[in-house]
Amino acid sequence: MTTNRVEPSFRESVDLMFNRAAALLDLPPGLEEKIRVCNSTYTVRFGVKLRGEVRTFTGYRSVHSEHTEPVKGGIRYSLGVNQDEVEALAALMTYKCALVEAPFGGSKGGLCIDPREYDVDELEKITRRFAYELIKRDLIDPAQNVPAPDMGTGEREMAIMADQYARMNTTDINARACVTGKPPHAGGIKGRVEATGRGVQYALQEFFRHPEDIAKAGMTGTLDGKRVIVQGLGNVGYHAAKFLSEEDGAIVTHVIERDGVIHDDHGIHIESLHDWIVQHGGVKGYPNGHYLEDGKAALEEACDILIPAALEGVINMENAARIQAQLIIEAANGPVTAGANDILMEKGTVIIPDLYANAGGVTVSYFEWVKNLSHIRFGRMQRRQEESRHQLIVDELERLDRHLGGAWSMTPDFKSKYLRGAGELELVRSGLDDTMREAYAAMREVWHGREDVHDLRTAGFLVSISRVAASYQAKGI
Ligand code: GLU
Repeated sequence: MTTNRVEPSFRESVDLMFNRAAALLDLPPGLEEKIRVCNSTYTVRFGVKLRGEVRTFTGYRSVHSEHTEPVKGGIRYSLGVNQDEVEALAALMTYKCALVEAPFGGSKGGLCIDPREYDVDELEKITRRFAYELIKRDLIDPAQNVPAPDMGTGEREMAIMADQYARMNTTDINARACVTGKPPHAGGIKGRVEATGRGVQYALQEFFRHPEDIAKAGMTGTLDGKRVIVQGLGNVGYHAAKFLSEEDGAIVTHVIERDGVIHDDHGIHIESLHDWIVQHGGVKGYPNGHYLEDGKAALEEACDILIPAALEGVINMENAARIQAQLIIEAANGPVTAGANDILMEKGTVIIPDLYANAGGVTVSYFEWVKNLSHIRFGRMQRRQEESRHQLIVDELERLDRHLGGAWSMTPDFKSKYLRGAGELELVRSGLDDTMREAYAAMREVWHGREDVHDLRTAGFLVSISRVAASYQAKGI
């Protein structure tokens, strides 16, 4: 394997990973390039009058592949946003959607802004204006381009964008489906906020169902007791760390944030650290753990599982050789550069790649989009039917109980829970779990089944590229 000596840009990094997988496929001439390149990137500069002066903002929306429409992907608010970044992220959306079979092409947007510098009203003004520019060019549209939250944005921004679209398209009955990640009372779906972190949990649970795969990462056993380092306690990192520690017995020893690290070998209480960050704006001063200043050094500490859940490029050619984790799960998009990827593969580190690991967000976005288009709450039509089926089972169990003369009996708690059937949240979670299992199975088959594939990332790209290629070939370009 060749190690790249110069660190590529984020987009080049994604392209290098794409090329490695595409080289193993027998694609018709020219199709490889058609899939790899970004179709278009729109740049907008607009002014908003704030605090007595006009401030100019720069935003982007990139469309990577339109093999299936609408195209899909988040909108990020961050000072680091640039064209290379949105194009890399849009490309990743194409491969991510194909892998989890969400019927979307890839897109991504961004606004160069530090949202913490503005109050809620100012952010609404800026968001409305940005949305207006995108809507005018069909870059927000339920049939063509459907944004979602990403770093620095959330339910509030999505609700504002959806409202702006509805005002500009008063006769569009599907207006609500123009954006996902909306709050449940504004057309959203339960479980969307937790979805990406939940997907990281389901991905790890699935990985730990396969002893052969666990052994490749030099481990045995289950998630219970595994030592975890999490970088970034934003929406994704927080939910992943919370679920893994509260439900699977994982021990989060380090949480790395912008202003430092909290370390506790006995395991950090994620909910209480998260509350602290919300109140104090950082981890410094948190009383239940040791504070360390050097976040970069903490990434290199010994652990079983490393979860980078913040920015791209944090594991790069400079630090890759020193990373001790044997298993890395990419909760963020692009946290491992192509150069670092080569170094880690030579060390035998197993990487669960971003296009799979963080696909939970777009999977539940897909459920929300379908819910909006169908104009009915998830499960509402099936619920009666499900409840009467459950009633039949409960009746049968009660009959059995009588037959056994009461030697076994059903607790009232079980009976009432079972009879209630599944609500929207349960349906969303089980749909997500299913999706993550199926996507893993598709990657795994390639990983174990082909001698020329040595890692999950190449396997994931191979599955995705084949699907996108099949879609282009079926309909012609
Ligand atoms: N921003 C998320 C991602 O990077 C979600 C995208 C979506 O739901 O469309 O996958």
